[in-house]
Amino acid sequence: MTDRLWFDPTEILVGGVWHRTAETLEVEDPSTGEVFAAIARGGTGEIDQAVDAAEAALAGDWGAMPAFERGRVLARLGKLVEEQIEQLAWLEARDVGKPLKQARADAVALARYLEYYAGAADKITGETIPFQNGYTVYTLREPHGVTGHIIPWNYPMQILGRSVGAALAMGNACILKPAEEACLTALAFARLAADAGLPAGALNVVTGLGGEAGAALASHPRVHHISFTGSVGVGSLIQQAAGKNIVPVTLELGGKSPQLVFEDADLDAALPLLVRPGVQNAGQTCSAASRILVQRGIFDQVVEGMAAQYRDLRVGPALDDLEVGPLISARQKSIVDGFLAQAPSGSIIATGRIDDAAAAGGHYVAPTLIAGIDRDHTLARDEIFGPVQVVLPFEDEDDAIRLANGTDYGLVASVWTQDGGRQMRLAKRLRAGQVFLNDYGAAGGVELPFGGVGKSGHGREKGFEALYGFSTLKTVAAKHG
Ligand code: ADP
Repeated sequence: MTDRLWFDPTEILVGGVWHRTAETLEVEDPSTGEVFAAIARGGTGEIDQAVDAAEAALAGDWGAMPAFERGRVLARLGKLVEEQIEQLAWLEARDVGKPLKQARADAVALARYLEYYAGAADKITGETIPFQNGYTVYTLREPHGVTGHIIPWNYPMQILGRSVGAALAMGNACILKPAEEACLTALAFARLAADAGLPAGALNVVTGLGGEAGAALASHPRVHHISFTGSVGVGSLIQQAAGKNIVPVTLELGGKSPQLVFEDADLDAALPLLVRPGVQNAGQTCSAASRILVQRGIFDQVVEGMAAQYRDLRVGPALDDLEVGPLISARQKSIVDGFLAQAPSGSIIATGRIDDAAAAGGHYVAPTLIAGIDRDHTLARDEIFGPVQVVLPFEDEDDAIRLANGTDYGLVASVWTQDGGRQMRLAKRLRAGQVFLNDYGAAGGVELPFGGVGKSGHGREKGFEALYGFSTLKTVAAKHG
């Protein structure tokens, strides 16, 4: 484990060269509120240069590299990440405020994404299509070209791994714009790219503000695909900006993901997994299990089982590695506090405990379990993005579906029941991009296609499916008589 930065974070990577920018932005430690580093403030000019560099890479060594070689590069990159897991985890803990064990899991996942997409790079094939006599028809899967990746601060390593990993495997040249609150692991990762043999310009990293570097990337006429993970509001802006250039987008936005617990559920198995995916990463998870829907007959029992776990949750500085760390920023804390201020009296069932070691300047919120509120209450319908879970009762299957599908979102859902027929029925009826049966996999699943419906977004990341999103299909029809 290191105790200091081992590279200069005020540099960005464009065309294989590390550059400084005229201005910098401060980097805050969410555990203390103290500024401990600075990053470059890239903007329109740097994005332009990155697009030029990406185009040059596609016209040069990167574009000419066979698929199996791209896979080898990604495999080497994955190995280099594996060798740095402890350093990367320390960096993420300081930069984002995640408890070390979560930060370590994110670094492991980054390496795993690279390993997965390394293996997939030379296994994407087209097809031959029976057509009229005298023709041979086949399809080619080709990279889009220059791809933009605008990622958030909640799981920087995992999200850059799934996004850039898949895009590079397909042969795109990437421009990564990390969130201004969380750039350090992306920069550390990019430092490894040249050592892995990634040609200059295949991966460019421009740090900066969303409204500057992010907006410049999303609206750039020579970028051919944008993948974005973040808030619904910014997702909508990005879709509009890309739409002006008729550029396709993949959007992974928020959620208000439900877990449905039926009276016949195995509660010993369910209870830990009802709580953990709701408070992991201090609830700052797109797929957080923020709504727990419980059949009336076991409602009190489930609420008490969850409350007991909440009372044991300790919150503290990321490097103390407790169950829950601080939120990312004072702004995020004030959003979550604002939601909690609307909790009706008597609805807060249990809270976790903020440790004495937590600095006054850190952005801590005690995990909070809420029950006994109306189904239409803002706490029950809107994404909070903090360590807050709401428990609501339902009567039967139809009522459970009404409740589960009754928000604007549709990212993940789970069903706890031992009735096989009910499992199958509900898996079909739930409006969500992923459904778990007797399980809940908030962040895991490199291999599992992931994305939403409704305001949770569109397009799929992770798994093999992501490779289709990061490519375009060409049909070749040869008339030969
Ligand atoms: P949050 O609200 O949770 O902080 P955002 O959706 O604002 O998340 O941010 C996710 C990513 O989108 C970050 O990289 C951020 O810099 C970027 N971003 C924010 N605003 C814009 C914008 N107008 N155009 C493009 N990217 C943006």
